[in-house]
Amino acid sequence: MATHPRQRRTHHAKSAAVAFISLGCPRNLVDSEILISLIKDHHYRFVEEPEQGDIIIINTCTFIQEATEETIDVILKAAALKKQGRTKGVIVYGCFSQRYKDRLRALLPEVDAFLGVDCFDELPGAIEQVLQGKQCAIFSDHKRAKGYTLPTPVERSLTQPHIAYLKISEGCLHRCTFCVIPDIKGPHRSRRMEEILKEGQFRIREQSVSELVIIAQDTSTYGIDLYYDRALPRLLRSLAQMALHKMWIRVLYLHPEGISDELLRVFAEYPQLCRYIDIPIEHASDHILKRMGRTYNRQFLYTLIRKIRDTLPGVFLRSSVIVGFPGESEEDFEELRRFIADISFERLGAFMYSKEEGAAASLLENQIPEKTKQRRLDEVMRLQQEISRQTCARFMGSEIEVLVDDYVAGENLLLCRSEFDAPEVDGLVLVKNTEALPGEFITVRLVDTLEYDLIGERVR
Ligand code: SF4
Repeated sequence: MATHPRQRRTHHAKSAAVAFISLGCPRNLVDSEILISLIKDHHYRFVEEPEQGDIIIINTCTFIQEATEETIDVILKAAALKKQGRTKGVIVYGCFSQRYKDRLRALLPEVDAFLGVDCFDELPGAIEQVLQGKQCAIFSDHKRAKGYTLPTPVERSLTQPHIAYLKISEGCLHRCTFCVIPDIKGPHRSRRMEEILKEGQFRIREQSVSELVIIAQDTSTYGIDLYYDRALPRLLRSLAQMALHKMWIRVLYLHPEGISDELLRVFAEYPQLCRYIDIPIEHASDHILKRMGRTYNRQFLYTLIRKIRDTLPGVFLRSSVIVGFPGESEEDFEELRRFIADISFERLGAFMYSKEEGAAASLLENQIPEKTKQRRLDEVMRLQQEISRQTCARFMGSEIEVLVDDYVAGENLLLCRSEFDAPEVDGLVLVKNTEALPGEFITVRLVDTLEYDLIGERVR
């Protein structure tokens, strides 16, 4: 049967190979999995290696300078493949495109298409255009953003089958002065609870995941826009009640101001909820918290953390802090250092302040020299290493339940995590000389510790 020229082109285009590179945070990972499922739904061949792709799509990150540099590096590598004739087109998706939408064509003429954030539906059309040798650029207009909905990709190409991320909202309600995310991702918008529960049911009941990780820019603000109420406790209760098999539900990115008594009660009530509270505090000097646009003070944090530890004995607190924020004096830094020593977070990430174009703090006076930032970062990391060593030592000899993530055949080694270890962020529990499948829960006795990982022997 003779095919119509347009049909012939479409048929040829449909079998094109598409490679996908996902950069950035778990929220980007969820978006990437949706984009990959869209690529497959439109009958393009999804290939792992960029060199194999007729088209290379990059889901980008730009929240701090370092991430932006990595993104540009990946884009230029893809563009080099195109120059060598090893790929036909490059599509740059997500945060970087959205943030620099007015300058992209001049900045990166070798890129064929730019798509901003939430441009899921526009991707297949953009691939088609690029395969026809055309260019395009489509960005989100957050001012017109109403609500937030996400398709539920059946297949997850970038996460292990036993772990699933569940994104419950997009954008952010806060305006921290160091952060460009609200400008990129727009205002806070929650998914409808019934939609989230439908996806949760699918992941828990049909895909039998062992771990469901709840994410957003700020999970504690969930529902405020739809239900005029912090609805996270209600959502977690419904998800926990769905579990018919042994599983964990982990909540990330809780804003300190969003931790209600009701939320802590739900954590205490449901063993499925990991006793792992992720609350980025950013700093502990009242002077700096104010300059950061964080609307709580150090006393609030002391009270909150005492309440969390009283309500959830044995809970692990994860947090993150920024050092070298404009105007941070030695006294401010000392207050932060003393607070970290007092609280002894079980898990702590520390970052040097990154001056971000477009963020209010970039215009503040008293920007701190890089050398001083680095010295302060080193001091915090040394302090936290000692705290982590003491935290690990507390557990030596005890038995804990761990989730098997992977098996290293050559070394007869299981890579596992406890409920106190978030995927890709925290340490591992290494278990030798035993076999188990990824997704299984086993019990181990902790016998030794490395810098960030623990060594366990299987008990059962
Ligand atoms: S809470 Fe602050 S730091 Fe976090 S995404 Fe929102 S504005 Fe950025």
